[in-house]
Amino acid sequence: MRVRLNLTRKFIAILMVISVLPLMIVSVASYQVSRTVVNDEVSHYTTELLNSHRDHLDFSLEQLERLIINLSSVEPVLQALGQTEAEMDTYTRLSTQAQIGYILDSYTDLGGVVSIDIFTENGVHYHVGDTLNISNIRTDLRDDIIAQTRAVAPEVVWLGLMENVNRNSNTRHVVTLARALMTVDVGTAQARPVATLLVNYDPQMLQKHFNHVDLGTDGFMLVSDSRGQIIYHPQTDLIGAILHPDLLPLVQESQGSFTHTINDQPMVINAVQSQVTDWLIMSLVPVQTLDQGVQAIGTVTVLAMGLALLIVAVGALLVSRSVVNPIRQLTHRFQLYQSDRPGWSEPLKATSQDEIGELTRWFNAFLETLAARRHAEQALRESESRYVLALQGANDGIWDWDLRTQTIHYSLRWKMMLGYGDDAIGNSPDEWFKRIHPADYDHVRAQIDAHLRGELPHFESEYRMLCRDGVTYLWVLARGMAVADEHGTMVRMAGSQTDISIRKQTEEQVRYELLHDPLTGLPNRTYFVQAIEQMLGHLDLASGRQAAVLFLDLDRFKVINDSLGHAAGDEVLRMVAQRLSNSRRFSDVVARISGDEFALLLPEMRSFESATRVAERIQDTLSQPMVIESLEITIQASIGIAFMTGAYIRAEDLLRDADTALYQAKANGRACAMVFDNEMHTRSMDLLHLDTSLRRAIDEDELRVFYQPIADVQTGHVYGFEALVRWYSWERGMISPAEFVPFAEETGLITRIDLWVLGRALTQLQSWHRQGYNHLSVSVNLSVRSLQNPHLPRLVANLLTAMGLPPTSLHLEVTESAAMLDIEHTIALLKELRAIGVQLAIDDFGTGYSSLGYLRRLPVQILKIDRSFVRDITESKDAAAIASAVIAIGHILDMRIVAEGVETQAQRTFLMHQGCDAIQGYLISPPQPAELAEKLLGQTLFELKR
Ligand code: C2E
Ligand code: CA
Ligand code: CA
Repeated sequence: MRVRLNLTRKFIAILMVISVLPLMIVSVASYQVSRTVVNDEVSHYTTELLNSHRDHLDFSLEQLERLIINLSSVEPVLQALGQTEAEMDTYTRLSTQAQIGYILDSYTDLGGVVSIDIFTENGVHYHVGDTLNISNIRTDLRDDIIAQTRAVAPEVVWLGLMENVNRNSNTRHVVTLARALMTVDVGTAQARPVATLLVNYDPQMLQKHFNHVDLGTDGFMLVSDSRGQIIYHPQTDLIGAILHPDLLPLVQESQGSFTHTINDQPMVINAVQSQVTDWLIMSLVPVQTLDQGVQAIGTVTVLAMGLALLIVAVGALLVSRSVVNPIRQLTHRFQLYQSDRPGWSEPLKATSQDEIGELTRWFNAFLETLAARRHAEQALRESESRYVLALQGANDGIWDWDLRTQTIHYSLRWKMMLGYGDDAIGNSPDEWFKRIHPADYDHVRAQIDAHLRGELPHFESEYRMLCRDGVTYLWVLARGMAVADEHGTMVRMAGSQTDISIRKQTEEQVRYELLHDPLTGLPNRTYFVQAIEQMLGHLDLASGRQAAVLFLDLDRFKVINDSLGHAAGDEVLRMVAQRLSNSRRFSDVVARISGDEFALLLPEMRSFESATRVAERIQDTLSQPMVIESLEITIQASIGIAFMTGAYIRAEDLLRDADTALYQAKANGRACAMVFDNEMHTRSMDLLHLDTSLRRAIDEDELRVFYQPIADVQTGHVYGFEALVRWYSWERGMISPAEFVPFAEETGLITRIDLWVLGRALTQLQSWHRQGYNHLSVSVNLSVRSLQNPHLPRLVANLLTAMGLPPTSLHLEVTESAAMLDIEHTIALLKELRAIGVQLAIDDFGTGYSSLGYLRRLPVQILKIDRSFVRDITESKDAAAIASAVIAIGHILDMRIVAEGVETQAQRTFLMHQGCDAIQGYLISPPQPAELAEKLLGQTLFELKR
């Protein structure tokens, strides 16, 4: 408040100095000048006035003087006066008197003349005037006058104001002028006074004249005679009074103009002397009256000054307000800020474009910065208090890192986690970082640095910390957040340290389970693939073979599984795993890939011979009899070997090649080992091109259908044919369905093939039926893919109707494994097909994993025993037992049993005795073109034997 007033005052003062002061000086100067001018004018005017009135007075007095002079020269009067009393007789005297009276009378016309008197030497008194009574004369005065006139005769004497000589006159005081009348003696020629002539003049005449003179309120004229006696004064009672003795000398000194105080009033007095008498005519004007005009100027000046002051003050106020108000607002904001009251951060209105506006805008920006800083401080305080709370309550260790001093406060809990007490750990960052596991250190530092650079919203890292024992590591999770100061520099970072060892253990467990087979405890396929990939990653490409991958498949494991149950199967797998683990070297990796497939990765295995030797040793180990559920079982394995070389990029390729070699080994008769070679490679590479070729094959009619007869096991009477696809590629020659069917299944082409075969087979059957073999049936294979086609039943029905074939003459074969893939769906589809009247067969029975239980649910009428069982029935008791069991169960389920791959009579006999219904195989005929196959029709191939 005080500041504001001061500023305003300063403004006013400055404005005064620059505007009012000069004005004041000018005003005072002009006042002075005008005062001087006015005074000069007044005195000039007064002088003029005095002069004119003096002239006027003088004119009157001159008239009087002329009157007296004229009278003096009237001869008869003089003569009369010259006569002595003696010389005069009464008559003369009387006539003289009358004559003089007459003359005098004519002169009394002059205005103001009271009386004219002549006093002769003889003592005669002639008188004309206001009264006729001259009996009472002031003789002393008369004598005095006579004496005075004689002294200066013949001059006219102005006697001034005096008492009337004639006491009887109405006019008591008169202004008198007198002259001695002289006559010249004829004899002596000397002049001698004869009489004294008196003219009494009425001062009232002056009164009439001067009373009209206007000299302002208190100004007046004054006329005095040479003795200082007042002749005229507006106050008539003062007429006759004597002037103050000081005045006359002053008139002399000042040459007629001076100021004098009369009755306490300063008066400007001007005086001129009559040129006829020595009277003084004065004007007396109070100084005050004179100053009145000047004072008006003064008043106007003062008023103007006042107005100017007012304008200046208002202007200054207005100007200062435009400056002071913003300043006051600024001050107010500061006060709010200082006392921490709300509203201090609200921006001020900056409307003007001047420096004040500029200041306000900068101030607003400053406020904003201040608010941001406050906010940051607040946030910091809050987070600080949060940290304190966390510090007290948390199970986590807390650390608080002052980045400026590079000191870290570690909470007790932090230290305790690592096995330390409070005093054992200082506050240097080293206490933390030197304990980080060397393998984790770089990552942790990188995370912290990334956060400090602002690339990560917070710091978070999992790593191991060395415990107090110097051996064990504790898995911890550290989280932290840095705080920046107002310049954006990170000044502090704080966070927590959580013990995550339990979670890490669980994770480890999960990881282990992900990579291991729970049954055998061996690494699983994923692990194995990773192991290969890891090796491939470190492979020296130039140095040829580096390692060997052995792919191992248990021969006929399914048989064990199906006949002895899964528990036994599992036991076998565990024992195989055990034996494989025992026989491996330290760096070898043994894994269970799937079901009965195992694999070994043998580093530093460079020659075929050593790899084969390892394979043989494994086969030896595995073929040692093992006792399962008190049964002695012998296991055999086929092994495919592939060598890791620079040619491989993916682990899967290596596995695939080992698998190919394994397949080859199985094809070569089981229980042997094969090394993947270039020929296999070429073949497998060729398969890649199969797709294109096969598509073309269908379009360009490279496919054929061969027919293999199915005959009654007892009579050998052919009752049907199985339709089997053949591919005669002009590029590659004949390609076995075993080679391309699995491939076509993968690509989906098989559905086209199946339908094509179906169409062909039915056409062929129609032709046979027309030839009279209308009891014949045809079996067509359906792949998994075909089973997924929902239109299949409708298609089949349409075909049968179109060709006029009885539905029962069509047999559709579905492999056991295909049926098991999606059992519910298969059952549904098979039921639809069954509804048409088509016969259904389970193909390759015994190779799948299905239990016999499932069979019951499948709406099938025919069961085909896989040829791998048939092959061994005459040699292997197991195979024989399985075959008999299958036949028995099949019959219980009301199915017809067909044995596949029957090549010998012995096999046929065995099957026949077991009650098998039909056989198929080379014993009767291989698959052949229709025209060759039909030659078997109508024949009975076997004798009837029981
Ligand atoms: P599969 O259905 O089990 O067919 C019987 C296979 O056994 C035929 O092989 C046949 O030539 C062979 N075979 C028959 N008798 C004997 C024998 O006494 N000894 C030996 N060692 N083998 C015998 P193929 O024609 O090579 O067919 C192989 C497989 O290809 C078939 O097995 C079948 O699963 C599939 N296949 C063939 N044609 C088709 C088809 O049109 N569609 C579908 N989906 N699969 C087909
Ligand atoms: Ca078949
Ligand atoms: Ca079969």
